[in-house]
Amino acid sequence: MIDALRMALRSAGLRCTPARLSVLGTLDALGQPVTHADLSAHPDVAGMDDITLYRTLGTLVDAGLIHRVQGIDGAWRYCVQPRDRAGCPGNHPHFLCTGCRRMECLVDQAMPRVRVPEGAEVRGRHFVVYGRCAACAAASAGSGAPG
Ligand SMILES: [Zn+2]
Ligand SMILES: [Zn+2]
Repeated sequence: MIDALRMALRSAGLRCTPARLSVLGTLDALGQPVTHADLSAHPDVAGMDDITLYRTLGTLVDAGLIHRVQGIDGAWRYCVQPRDRAGCPGNHPHFLCTGCRRMECLVDQAMPRVRVPEGAEVRGRHFVVYGRCAACAAASAGSGAPG
């Protein structure tokens, strides 16, 4: 596990710092997009200062090891790029539950094709579908919520 992480960092041309190893390892273990706040609350990352965490996330995004997607709540979420797949990091749609704020990667679906203005240079893309996940939908449909 740690060896795979070290290899991923080295092949992206990065040094294996403890911060990079723990952030990449945590995202890898979680396997779903999470916010900066989720990460800093995680026991494996807890204790890291915010600036180091932001810088580490930025470095990993720039290196193509993780991708980030902004939800309609404004929060960026970070997710590890599957190492066994080719293709552009984050090149898939995401689903965001507005109830529990969990985001899922929909890796098996293609992004819609969009024609950009002539001469434009595309730097990234994201496509977020939002609503309620099955658990939140069931919770709100069940036993008459008060209000
Ligand atoms: Zn939910
Ligand atoms: Zn994703």
